[in-house]
Amino acid sequence: MTRFLPAEDYLPSGRYELLPFRFERLDDERVLLSNMAGEALTVSSADLTTLVNGDLDRSGALFSRLRANHFLRQPEDRAALELLALKLRTRYARLRDFTSLHLFVVTLRCDHACRYCQVSRQSADRASFDMSRETADRAIDLLFRSPNQALKVEFQGGEPLLNFDLIRYVVLSITERNRQHKRDIQFVITTTLSLISDDTLAFCREHRIFLSASLDGPEDLHNANRPRPGADSHARFVAGLEKARDVLGPEAVSALMTTTAASLQRGPGIVDEYLRLGFHGIFLRHLSPYGFALKTQSYQGYDTARWLEFYEETLTYIIDLNRSGVRFTEQHAAIILRKMFSCHDPGYVDLMNPSGAGIAAIVFNYDGGVFASDESRMLMEMGDDTFRLGSVHEHGYDEIFSAPALLSALEDSFTLSAPMCADCACEPWCGADPVYHHARHGDPLGRKAESGFCQRMKGMTRIFVKAMEDPFVAALFRRWALSC
Ligand code: SF4
Ligand code: SF4
Repeated sequence: MTRFLPAEDYLPSGRYELLPFRFERLDDERVLLSNMAGEALTVSSADLTTLVNGDLDRSGALFSRLRANHFLRQPEDRAALELLALKLRTRYARLRDFTSLHLFVVTLRCDHACRYCQVSRQSADRASFDMSRETADRAIDLLFRSPNQALKVEFQGGEPLLNFDLIRYVVLSITERNRQHKRDIQFVITTTLSLISDDTLAFCREHRIFLSASLDGPEDLHNANRPRPGADSHARFVAGLEKARDVLGPEAVSALMTTTAASLQRGPGIVDEYLRLGFHGIFLRHLSPYGFALKTQSYQGYDTARWLEFYEETLTYIIDLNRSGVRFTEQHAAIILRKMFSCHDPGYVDLMNPSGAGIAAIVFNYDGGVFASDESRMLMEMGDDTFRLGSVHEHGYDEIFSAPALLSALEDSFTLSAPMCADCACEPWCGADPVYHHARHGDPLGRKAESGFCQRMKGMTRIFVKAMEDPFVAALFRRWALSC
C-alpha cells in the first residue's frame, strides 16, 4: 500500500495543505469544487479565494466540510491521503472485473420501422439477418472467457423475439455450461413487447429472464415514433406489459424511452404515462446521433441545449411529483448523483471512465462481428467499421480484446489525462465516449468545446447543483443516488 508523508513532517503548525481539486464557475457568485474521488461541494467565489490563499478560518463550518471531504488536510491529519487514495481505488474497482455485459444481436429483422432506427431490417429473409447457432456457440465460448463472475446476457435486435428459437438455444446452452463455470448470470431481452406470447413468457419465467421494453410516452407519441403495421405499437405494449407482469412479476419488466424532436414538448405527459402504467421511474434518454436519426424528423430542431431544456422541465415535474408524495425516480440523474455523492461507480456503460466500450460491454452481431458497443455497430451500419474488433469466426479472445482500435480509443479518451477533461470539475461523474466523439469529430477524444456529450454533462451538473439549493431536493437526490 502507498504510504504518504505525514503533513506534520513539512507543514508548519497552524497551516493547512490543499489536496488536489478542480473547480468550475457556476455563475459570478458560486463555484463547484470536486476532487479525484468524486466529492463535490459548492462554495462562493470569495471563499474559494480565501481557501487557496491559505486564509480559511479553521474553526468555521466550511473548513470542516472541506476537511471531511478531502479538499484540504491539516498537519495532524495522518490518514487523509490514504483515505483519498482508497476512495479513488474504489472508484475504479470495476476495472478489475472486466466485461460483464454481453449483447447478442440475434436478428436484425423487426416488425417496427422506427424513424430513428439504424439497424433493423423489414425482411422475411431469415438466413441473411438472423444469428446462427454456430455463431452463437462461438460467442458463448468468448463469454465464458470473461474473468467477471457476474455476467449479464442481453438479447437485442431488430426485434429479438423474431428469433426466439435462438434465444432459447443460447439460454439453455449457457445454463448447461454454467453448471461447470458457476457464474452469476442474468438474462435480459430488449423488446417492444409487440410479439410476446404465452410460450415466450413461460420460458422467461422458468429461466428468470428480465424484459427491457420500449415506451416512448402516450399512445399518439409512441405510435408516431414507432410505426408498425396496424399502428398498434402502444396497444401491443400495454397488453404485453400486463401479461408479462402477471407471469414474471411486476419488477421483471422495465421500460426505456427515447427522446425524439416530437417528445420535447411532452415531458410531463411522458412521465404521466409511465406512472399510469405502474412504473416507479423513467430514464430520460437523449437520441443517439447516429445514422437515420440524424437525417429524419426525429432529430430536427434538436440540439443539446434544447434537450437540456426538456430535461430540466421534466426533472422539475418529477421533483414536484415527489414533493406531493408520489415516489418516482429519474434514473439518468440517479446514476450521475450516485457518482457525485459517493466513490462508487454504478457501472452505467455510457458514463464510464475508461470508456465502457469493450471492457464493460461487448456486442456479438448477428453475423459474428464483434463490436466495442451498441453504438459501434450502429456506426458500422453507416459504413464505418472502426470499432469492429473482429469476428467470432476468425478471432480469439485475446485478439479481440487487445485489438489496437479498442486499446488506443480507451487510452486516448481516458478523462484523467484527456485535454480539458483532466481539468474539469465534472470529470469524476462524467465518462469517456470515444465512439460518439469518433462519429462526430473524427477522433476518440473529440473537441470538447463543440461536443454535445460534454455540453450535456456540464448542463446536467448545473441543473442538479441549482436544484439542490432546495433542501427537499438535496434529500431526494441523496435517496435516488442510494437507489442505483
Ligand atoms: S423496434 Fe428497435 S430495432 Fe425495431 S425499428 Fe424500432 S428501434 Fe429499430
Ligand atoms: S467531457 Fe466535458 S464534462 Fe466530461 S469531463 Fe470532459 S470536459 Fe468535463
